Amino acid sequence: MKVLVLNCGSSSLKYQLINMENETVLAKGIAERIGIDGSFVKHEPAGQDKHVINTPLNNHKDAIKVVLDALVDDNHGVLKNLDEINAVGHRVVHAGEKFSGSVMIDQDVIDALEECSDLAPLHNPPNLMGIYACQEILSDVPMVGVFDTAFHQTMPKSSYLYALPYELYETYRIRRYGFHGTSHKYVALKTAELLGKPIEELKLVTCHLGNGASMTAVMYGQSVDTTMGFTPLEGLVMGTRCGDIDPAIISFVMEKENIDINEMNNIMNKKSGVLGISGVSSDFRDIEEAAEAGNERAKVALQVFYKKVTKYIGAYAAEMGGLDAIVFTAGLGENSDLARSEICKTLSFMGATIDEKKNKGVRGKESIISTDDSTVKIVLMPTNEELMIARETKSLIS
Ligand code: AMP
Repeated sequence: MKVLVLNCGSSSLKYQLINMENETVLAKGIAERIGIDGSFVKHEPAGQDKHVINTPLNNHKDAIKVVLDALVDDNHGVLKNLDEINAVGHRVVHAGEKFSGSVMIDQDVIDALEECSDLAPLHNPPNLMGIYACQEILSDVPMVGVFDTAFHQTMPKSSYLYALPYELYETYRIRRYGFHGTSHKYVALKTAELLGKPIEELKLVTCHLGNGASMTAVMYGQSVDTTMGFTPLEGLVMGTRCGDIDPAIISFVMEKENIDINEMNNIMNKKSGVLGISGVSSDFRDIEEAAEAGNERAKVALQVFYKKVTKYIGAYAAEMGGLDAIVFTAGLGENSDLARSEICKTLSFMGATIDEKKNKGVRGKESIISTDDSTVKIVLMPTNEELMIARETKSLIS
């Protein structure tokens, strides 16, 4: 079985074609600048050179057509014809309270996702554009929706409810939803495999530390709390997002700076985080380099980031009444030994002791980086959201 995984952003479309017999990637790539001048598709067939197709892409339908052509191309294609694609798995960011798992996409599902667009105005509309385009071009191929929010639907009300008037929850569904669910679920399952224990017996804190960052308390295989909230703005300090702040700051800054809510949202989403504090970059590599060279603001940006992660590890261990493993994943979590070391340096008191020799220089490789006698294991687990989407798709259409 071959599954095409699609992840549509506002002006981009990432894809992977995965052979589910052996879970290998046959081809992957990205269409960029959709609807903008200078659009192109970068296509990478497995074991061959990258191939860049410069062509106008007016919308997601155009992009999907070019991708499908590339997949069956005589020179850089990997399929004889499109009938070989058995299913399409769509990443969809927000499914509100409607879905607690992946679903086959039909008109009712599309209607439900359209309703959720209000909750994720930047993400759901392009995700839906991808679905509509496939309905037209690959009309006979079954489609599955895999939602970032679904894994967190197991959170108890005490985790997802904000202390606002209850009517705001009832009327507008204002609550914590959580995101990166596909990644948290994938690394939690893989960590159980690595530790050789059933996930139903484990208390884990999964730390997805990338440009967007979130953490989840995974108790016996279920998300019981997570740092992102109503939107992906809440929680950890991120590349450009502020994470948790005192909500009173918002009206204060708007008044002092005489700016409207759009500008304030822009500040909190695009100009804050480690970029805002350091003034250097939103990329952790640049900030680590600047800190190393003595830049004080870069140093403090990293410290603010690390401290927040450490705090949530403690909070979630307390919430679950124990902890078996801390799991690091995504760009920074998988690649930065400095971040892992700084985040874990005070955690020996609770039985989580990082082994600096095992941690040093390890990148993107599944490994246990705690000392042998550490009762809480510290784990590096590369994420693979595309494979998780393909697996969910396969299991639904079988
Ligand atoms: P992601 O959103 O998961 O792609 O992660 C992107 C973030 O990971 C960026 O801020 C990168 O700077 C960071 N990252 C990737 N590789 C490294 C590395 N070797 N050292 C530090 N940060 C890294």
